[in-house]
Order: sequence, then C-alpha cells, then structure tokens
Amino acid sequence: MNAAPADQIRLLDLQAIDSKLDQLAHRRRSLPEHAEIDKATADHTALKDLVVAAQAQQSDTARELTKAEQDVEQVRTRSARNQQRLDSGAITSPKDLENLQHEIGSLAKRQGDLEEVVLDVMERLETAQNRVDELTARLEHSTVVLTEAEARRDAAFAEIDAEAEKVRRDRETVAAVLPADLLKLYTKLREQQGGVGAARLYQRRCEGCRTEFSITELNAIKAEPADKVVRCENCSRILVRTAESGV
Ligand SMILES: [Zn+2]
Repeated sequence: MNAAPADQIRLLDLQAIDSKLDQLAHRRRSLPEHAEIDKATADHTALKDLVVAAQAQQSDTARELTKAEQDVEQVRTRSARNQQRLDSGAITSPKDLENLQHEIGSLAKRQGDLEEVVLDVMERLETAQNRVDELTARLEHSTVVLTEAEARRDAAFAEIDAEAEKVRRDRETVAAVLPADLLKLYTKLREQQGGVGAARLYQRRCEGCRTEFSITELNAIKAEPADKVVRCENCSRILVRTAESGV
C-alpha cells in the first residue's frame, strides 16, 4: 500500500487521538464511584429487607399486645362481676359464698399472671420499635450515601464525556483527510493490536512493540520509497517514518 508521507504522519495524530479516547473510556469504566455505588446499592437493598422484617415483627408484637390486654380485661370484668354479686348480699348459701370467694381468688391470680404477660409483650414491642427506628435511620443514611456516590459519578461522567466529545470532533477533522484504504488498514490493525494500529519508527525501534531493528532491517526500511506504507515485521503495525526516525 502507498500513502503520502504527510498522510502517514497524520495517521500518528489519529493514533494519539484514538489512544486519548481509549483512555477516557477506560477512566469512565474504572471510576472508584462504580464500586462505591455497587456497595451502597447492596447495603441499601439489604437494609430495606431488614426494615420490612422489623416492621412485620413490630406489628405482630403490637397485635400480641392487644390480645394480651383483652385477656386481662376479660378476667377483670369477670372478677368485678363476681365481686358485685358478693357485695350485693344476694348469695346466702355458705357453699355458694365459698365457691364465689374461691373463684375471685383464682381470677385475681390469673389477672396477675396475664398482667405479667402484658408487661413482657410491651417490653418486646419497645425493642421491636427501637429496631425499626434504628434500621430506618440506617436505611436513610444508605440512601444519602448512594445518592452522593451517584452524583459524583454523574459529574465525572459529564466531565469525561465533554472532553471525549471535543476529542471526537478533532478525530473527525483528522480522519476526514486520510485516504480511505490507509484508514481501513489502520482501523483493522488497531482492533487486532490492542488499540494501536500505527507506530512511529524512532531510534531504530518500533514504538508499537519496542522491537529494535538490526542495521540490515533498518537499511531495508530506509530503502523503501517514502510513500510506501511500511509494516513492522514483529507486530505488523503500520510503521511511520518521521523526520526524527533516523532513516
Ligand atoms: Zn512493532
């Protein structure tokens, strides 16, 4: 393939631009915010599940308390009724009186036991409420952490994208004047060779693969006409001769 030496040199400009774009894309992918956001998202999801579970626990315990209070109320009502009957003097049979007094005693004990249950459930309800409050606060904090990390990522994206847009406009200008076949070869080689399709020959080295050429190889490169597109024998990249190439 042949190409004017000036176009070959422009290819190095294009390579520098493409490398810059690759760097920007790499920076975009490897922002530390990505890992932060992943972690914050995982924390947030886990906390959300914990809040839901804690709220379920809280409402179960609240229902349990209502039930325990109702049990106390029932016994209290029954006990009050018995006391009324006793106080009314309507019961005269000593046997009935004894039975009634016995029942009042049993109910008092039962009420005491049930009131213990109520106190126990109230304590558990308080614990459950505290857990909901604590987890809700942590969930809110994780939302803030996540939102902040996303904002920092988006700001970095905006900066990188603005720069990339500028560089892409430069690329269009350079690429527009390059011969199509040279551009096509460069593009193919760039894909095959890790993003570098054209390299400068500098101080006997291919700057693409750092291979140092022997005098014989260098003489062969020198012997090629200036508009011949030379390829590195080692990495097959387009080898561009410039004024500083020493050939
Ligand atoms: Zn090479």
